[in-house]
Amino acid sequence: MNRSVIHLDLDCFFVACELLRDSRLKGKPVIVGGKSGRGVVASCSYEARHFGVRSAMPIRYALQRCPDALVIRGDMDMYSNYSKLITTIIREQSPCFEKASIDEFYIDLTGMDTFFTSYLWARKLEEMIHRESGLDISFGLSINKTVAKMATNEGKPRAKLEVAPEEVRPFLDPLSVSKIPQIGKQTFRLLSRSGIRRISTLAGMPVAFMEQLLGKNGRTIWERANGIDDRPIVPYNEKKSTSAERTFSQDTIDIPYLRAQLLKLTVGLAFELRQSRKLTSIVTVKLRYTNFDTHTKQRRIAYTANDQQLIRIVHELFDQLYERRMLIRLVGVKFSGLVSGFVQMDLFEDTGHQTALNNALDEVRKKFGKGIIQRAATLPAPDEQSPKH
Ligand SMILES: [Mg+2]
Repeated sequence: MNRSVIHLDLDCFFVACELLRDSRLKGKPVIVGGKSGRGVVASCSYEARHFGVRSAMPIRYALQRCPDALVIRGDMDMYSNYSKLITTIIREQSPCFEKASIDEFYIDLTGMDTFFTSYLWARKLEEMIHRESGLDISFGLSINKTVAKMATNEGKPRAKLEVAPEEVRPFLDPLSVSKIPQIGKQTFRLLSRSGIRRISTLAGMPVAFMEQLLGKNGRTIWERANGIDDRPIVPYNEKKSTSAERTFSQDTIDIPYLRAQLLKLTVGLAFELRQSRKLTSIVTVKLRYTNFDTHTKQRRIAYTANDQQLIRIVHELFDQLYERRMLIRLVGVKFSGLVSGFVQMDLFEDTGHQTALNNALDEVRKKFGKGIIQRAATLPAPDEQSPKH
């Protein structure tokens, strides 16, 4: 049986949020990104795209292509709030959806009586999102995630594209292989050199040839070119989390030591987030006292994977939580409300230097294990080598 899968993607999300705040930006080339020398484009308006500006491009290059562009430092708090508003609207309309990133969703409507009913449903949802948030959203409807996403991309902005089962082949065939989401620059070059530029060509190749050319990805890419993608919608669950805790060999009330342990846990978890290209939006700190009383405190925050921000929040939660009367036997940190996203988002915090440092530290951790380097503050002072009472 054919499935009906909808892919939704907010148009120029960060820029669109800025336009809602300041309508004078309308019709102008706008870039959201870091203003520091190392900043990159996180999002840009169609007017800026017209000049060849693209996301992830260094701001310096972007301004060479479009000197009149207005560069705005991003406001992750505002974008996170809009992202959560859209998530709430989608959740109310459809119990089974996947939040693929801060501004991207998949919904499985398999079981609706006709493909056309699914299309009308998607139109209604798109109108509702526009009415309640003011944001434009694109959608593609098709038989699986890949074709739905490609339909969105082809129709942007304000895409409302339906690729019915019998239209999948005619839709895919003329497109460049670079339009398949799994194909990056390197794979594209490799395929081009073998004379494979259109999807119809790729789809007609023997699968064994593709496996020879691209290794284990060869079959997946061949399947995508043939409109095959069995991946299910993974329901979004705010509770999905990553956490770490530390039980002390001796219970302690040594505050600097406790803060240092929390910092260490936070740095490790933030590194994991960045490695899996995820961002968190809920931070929880846990304390267990010597009598096993356990207390937690949680805060919703703007999406981030930035060490500095997370350390600050964890320490604030600890300060609010700790009553300073009893010995502590365990501390823990948990990140939940996770979405996929890029570390580059942090760049518009104007922490170019900080991000470069983090990237360098992450490289070392990847090579030698995450315990190898710590910020100086995580190391106990010489007279604090063991927890004190
Ligand atoms: Mg988008």
